[in-house]
Amino acid sequence: FGAAGVMLSAMLAWLALRGIANRQSLTRGLRAALRRRQFEVHYHPVIDIQNDRCVGAEALIRWRHPDRGLIRPDLFIPVAEETGLIIPITRWLMNRVRDDFEGVDLPRDFHIAINLAPVQFKDRTIVDDIRAIFSGRNLSPAMLVLEATERFPIDDAGRKVIDALRTMGPGIALDDFGTGHSGLAYLQKFHGDYLKIDKTFVQTIGTDAVTRTVVDSIINLARELDMEIIAEGVETVTQLKYLRQRGVPYAQGFLFAQPLPFAEFENFRRTHPSP
Ligand code: C2E
Ligand code: CA
Ligand code: CA
Ligand code: CA
Repeated sequence: FGAAGVMLSAMLAWLALRGIANRQSLTRGLRAALRRRQFEVHYHPVIDIQNDRCVGAEALIRWRHPDRGLIRPDLFIPVAEETGLIIPITRWLMNRVRDDFEGVDLPRDFHIAINLAPVQFKDRTIVDDIRAIFSGRNLSPAMLVLEATERFPIDDAGRKVIDALRTMGPGIALDDFGTGHSGLAYLQKFHGDYLKIDKTFVQTIGTDAVTRTVVDSIINLARELDMEIIAEGVETVTQLKYLRQRGVPYAQGFLFAQPLPFAEFENFRRTHPSP
C-alpha cells in the first residue's frame, strides 16, 4: 500500500492507543469472544524458592482473536472493567480453571491465583460465583488465592466482600505492590495473606538503581504485617539468589517459565521438583 498505507495504519494505531477508535468495537468484540469461546487461560507457575518446588499457578486470561492472534490482557482488561464485562469473563475463566483441574491429583497445599478487578469487590456476585463454581470440586475454594490491586478501595462494601470471600477459604493477595500510592495504613486495613512485590522492583536487584532498597523495605514490611511474599517478574539467577537469601518464600517469573497452556503447565508442575 506504500507510504499512504503506512501513514494510515500508524494513525489507526495512534487512535487505538488513545482509546478513541476502538472502545465500542472492542466492547462488541469482547461480547462476541465470550459467545464464541475465544478466551484461553494460561498458567504462570508459582515456585517455592526455598525448596525448588512448583506449588501452584496464577491463571492469566488471553484472547485468541481469529484475525489478530493472541491478544494480551492489558489491551482489553481495562475496557472489560469499564463495561462490566469483566464479571462474565472472570466467571468463564473460573469455570475453565475448575474444569482443567477436575480429576487431577493435586498436593494439599496447591494454589491457583485469580485476578480480580476493583469493581468485583462492589457486590456479592464474586462470592456467589466462587461458591457455585468451586464448592465440592477437586479445586476447592480453599485452594484459591484472589489477587486484588491497590486500586481496590477498602470501604465498608469492599470489607464485607473480602470477609465473605475469606470465610469460604480463599487466600487474599495484594498484587503489584509498590506501584500504587498506598502506604502502611492501607496495608494494615487490607489484611491480606500475601503481598506480591511488583516486577519493577524485583528487576532493580543486581543493579545500582536507587530504588533497589525498596525490595528490602517491602520484605520487612510484609514480615511485620505477617504477610507472605510472592516476588513477581524474576528473570535472572542473581535476582533469585538474592530473594532466596532474604528468605522470600515464593516467586514467579520468566526465569522459571512463561505462562503456559494447561497441559504444558501440568508437565512443568510434575517435573518441579524432578521426580
Ligand atoms: P499481573 O496480574 O501483574 O500478572 C503478571 C504479568 O506479568 C503477566 O502478564 C505475566 O505474563 C507477566 N510476567 C510474569 N513473569 C514475568 C517476567 O519475569 N518478566 C516480565 N517482563 N513479565 C512477566 P499478562 O499475562 O500479560 O497479564 C497482564 C495483566 O493483565 C495482569 O498483570 C493482570 O493485571 C491482568 N490480567 C490478566 N488476566 C486477568 C484476569 O483474568 N482478570 C483480571 N482482572 N486481570 C487479568
Ligand atoms: Ca496478578
Ligand atoms: Ca501479581
Ligand atoms: Ca502483578
